[in-house]
This record gives sequence, structure tokens and C-alpha cells, in this order.
Amino acid sequence: MIPYGKQSVSEEDIEAVVDALRSDFLTQGPVVERFEQEFAEVCGAKYAVACCNGTAALHLAMLAAGVKAGDRVVTSPITFVASANCAAYVGAEPYFADIDPISHCLSPQALERTWKPGTRAVVAVDFAGQPAEMPGIAEVARNNGAVVIEDACHAVGGRFTVDGREHRIGGHQWADITTFSFHPVKTLTTGEGGMLVTDNKEYADAAKLYRSHGITRSAGCWTGPLQPEAPEVGVAYYEMQALGFNYRLSDIHAALGVSQLKRLPGFIERRQKLVERYNQAFREQPNLTIPKVADWLSGNSNSLSWHLYVLLFEFERTGKSREEVILKLRDKGVGTQVHYIPVHKQPYYFNRDNEAALPVAEKFYSQALSLPLYPTMTEADQSRVIDEVLGIVSESS
Ligand SMILES: *Cc1c(COP(=O)(O)O)cnc(C)c1O
Repeated sequence: MIPYGKQSVSEEDIEAVVDALRSDFLTQGPVVERFEQEFAEVCGAKYAVACCNGTAALHLAMLAAGVKAGDRVVTSPITFVASANCAAYVGAEPYFADIDPISHCLSPQALERTWKPGTRAVVAVDFAGQPAEMPGIAEVARNNGAVVIEDACHAVGGRFTVDGREHRIGGHQWADITTFSFHPVKTLTTGEGGMLVTDNKEYADAAKLYRSHGITRSAGCWTGPLQPEAPEVGVAYYEMQALGFNYRLSDIHAALGVSQLKRLPGFIERRQKLVERYNQAFREQPNLTIPKVADWLSGNSNSLSWHLYVLLFEFERTGKSREEVILKLRDKGVGTQVHYIPVHKQPYYFNRDNEAALPVAEKFYSQALSLPLYPTMTEADQSRVIDEVLGIVSESS
């Protein structure tokens, strides 16, 4: 079976993890800090805060940005549920704005058109690895006093050019906070893991505080009239300043991250090659639409970090439903996935504050199927996938 996604773990990666296991620190040791520093460098960001998964990174972003109960947060309907759930975790109300028909990322125009008062943050998702139109999104958000959070779980290591200047995912001026996931299907893995990056020291400090129970060792907050005397400040001192969580990443996981980070350029390049080969095979097919780069990026030199290969099918014209195509491909040993069932259609969300029509997202959903894409995929594997897909769309029903 050719899976739709798969991690690549080398002997060097394994040795790095074994070294961590033999060291003095399994958690809260030096490897986490090293991973944070090296990750911040890759992004060109000032601060990086490692945590236990990408969902925790989004939750920490909400907490750091001060999003609270009663606030609103807007995101794309075409994403993993965590991009919306993070808002609900802090008691805010998530809602959805429609996507761009080319990039399938949040559309700045739809964002502006459907903006609701009380929206404190935008969570823009770099769908499949293509950056959302961050300059346009940031303009709408900042004009309305909202914080811009970029969910870059699909786009680690990506670069794009605007007006002749290269920008890095996690390091450009149009996001206040950027989050990443290191789940094994993602481009870089730590098993489970996540990262928040920002240039804003207050956000970074807050994320660190909330990551570890809201506890800090530096004295600061004993101000209330009801408790004028603080416990003795000294080497054993700690204070809890906020209701935080245990969202730490262990040194074992971070060791895998440091080792994988060296391999990131190779992962990205391999994925780009595979995407280009799929594109060549499917470009001329009448019932298929290959992934395209949005106008604001096209013609520029971009090095995108493709996480998914989402092919659009005219299922009706092929005479087969998506279900039939998935099952036929599975019979032939080819795994696929649907990214994603629109979040506003999930039972938890659909009767809430989401009356807005999202026609572009719904059309996209009706056509999307993700083909296998991972760095250890061989050309022979890919040729098999291509042949099976072409066979299915061209055979008469
Ligand atoms: C994977 C993913 C997440 C969640 O990351 P986890 O590490 O699985 O918690 C959030 N948003 C998007 C877009 C993702 O793809």
C-alpha cells in the first residue's frame, strides 16, 4: 500500500534520539532550547517556543494574544479542526470566511466582506503548503484591530517573494504569531510536537508561561492588598501567575526535531519534485485540475514547502463518485485522503454562529482528493499512482 503521507526517519535521527535518552535530561533540558534556537533561525524569527503539538501551539497563540471569552476569531473552513478549536478553548466564538478559489486559503476579500464586530484574531492557514495571502489578510485584520495568527502547520520552511523581496514562513511582517505541527504526516516530525514563532517578546514570554502551568521562577506579581507579603523569594522560589497548561515538548522529541531540521531542505526539494511530476502528468487532463499558485505569488520565485498534493476531480463527468474513486484506488494499493471536510459542517460547529454562505469552500470540498506525497516516495511508486488515477478518470463508466 502506498500511503498518502509518511515520515522519513534516518539512522542519524535515531542516533540523535538515543543520545537524548542517554543524557541527563529527558525533558526541560538543553535540547529543547537548541531546537527552538535553530528553528527560529530557519524562520528568520526572533523567538520560538516549542510545545507538545500543533494544536497546543494554536491554543498558546490565542492565550498569548489575549483572546478571551466573548471574543470572535475567524478562520478558514478548509483546515484541520484545530484551527477553529483553539478559539473555542479560550471561550471565544470561531466563525469562518470563504476561501480563495485558486489557493484554497482564506480570501482577504471574503474576510473583509464577512467581518464581524468583536473579532480579535484571524487564523490564516497555509493550505497544502501554499502561503495564504498574508499581506491582504493582515491589512484587513489590522485595520480592524485584530491579531494575525498564521497556522503554518502545512508550510514549514517555505519561502515566497513579494515585490522582489524574499520572505520566509514564520519570519515575515504580515503575521504576529506563526504556528507549526511536527506530527508524522507533516513535512518535519518529532513524533508529536509543535512550535510557535513570533518577533514579539511579550507574546513569546506569555506562550512560555502558559506552556508550563503559568509558573515562573522570577518574582513579579505579588501586588494584591489581600496578600501584601509574598513567600520568601530565593533559590526555591516559584510563582503561578496565570492558569497555564503542561504543553511542554520533551528533550527526546526535540532531539528528533534538531536532527530532522538538518534534513528539511532535502524534504522540501523532494516534495517540490514530486509535485512537479504530478502536475506534468495531470495538467492536460480534462477532468482534473492541478494545484495552482495564487496570482499574488505567481510569476515570482517561490520555494514552497508542499505538504499535500490536492487534485480536483470533475467526479460527475468521470461517471464516478469520490467514494468510488477512493475505493478503486485503495483496491490498487493507493492511499488517499480528503483535506478537509469543511470545519463549519462538523456537527460541533454547524448550529453555531455560522450562518455565512461558504460556496467556494463547499465547491472545493466536493472536488478534492489528496494523492500520496512524502519524501521517501520513489518515482516508481509515483508512476503507479499516476497510472491508476489516469486509468480511473479515462475509463468509461
Ligand atoms: C496538523 C494540523 C494542526 C494540528 O497539529 P497537531 O500537531 O496534530 O496538533 C493544526 N492545523 C493544521 C492546518 C494542521 O494541518
